[in-house]
Amino acid sequence: MTMLTDIHTHNIPFTQGAALYNLPLLIDDIPVDQPCSVGLHPWQIDSEWEKSLAWVVSVAGRESVLAVGEAGLDRLRGPSLELQETVFKAQVSLGEMLRKPLIVHNVRCDGQLLRLHRDLSPSMPWVVHGFRGNSLQAASFADQGIWMSFGLRFDPQALRTVGLNKLLIETDEYPELTDVVNNISAVLNVPATEVLTVASNNAARFLGIDFEP
Ligand SMILES: [Zn+2]
Repeated sequence: MTMLTDIHTHNIPFTQGAALYNLPLLIDDIPVDQPCSVGLHPWQIDSEWEKSLAWVVSVAGRESVLAVGEAGLDRLRGPSLELQETVFKAQVSLGEMLRKPLIVHNVRCDGQLLRLHRDLSPSMPWVVHGFRGNSLQAASFADQGIWMSFGLRFDPQALRTVGLNKLLIETDEYPELTDVVNNISAVLNVPATEVLTVASNNAARFLGIDFEP
């Protein structure tokens, strides 16, 4: 099996299986052999959200879906945080029921997320994707066992706080994983090849899969 290095992208990877592809909401033709995540993003919560969520539930059990998400909380965009929290909690439950980890979108909702993680005490891991917080914020997530993934832009000190042991990397909307890897390699002062190996081993650990042939 291809090493999955990119934990979150909206682009179908050039090499099948090299990334966790976030399915577009309500897509008809779901790729069969491509590892995917599926969720209802806070920006997509509209008057039809219950239908959208039902679609997510109907797809999330598929074998190629390895994670639920992205789901989350956004203080700057989307409906009320109260409704966002309702939809988020429903997806936490879905992930717990299916035993699949959660990809989390977080914009300025650290406190709320940490509280929810404490209260819900999920057995499946969470990753805050596209982490751009500072090292103190990184430490508070790490203390609760919450993973973070790093993309093109990040706080170098936060990356050092997370370190190689729990490093996850992503492209999100950006097309070039190489640029992400090179930035991380420079900050952590480890070769790009090692960043890739570590990130794919950690992705396997996070997703609860292994890459044995
Ligand atoms: Zn995304």
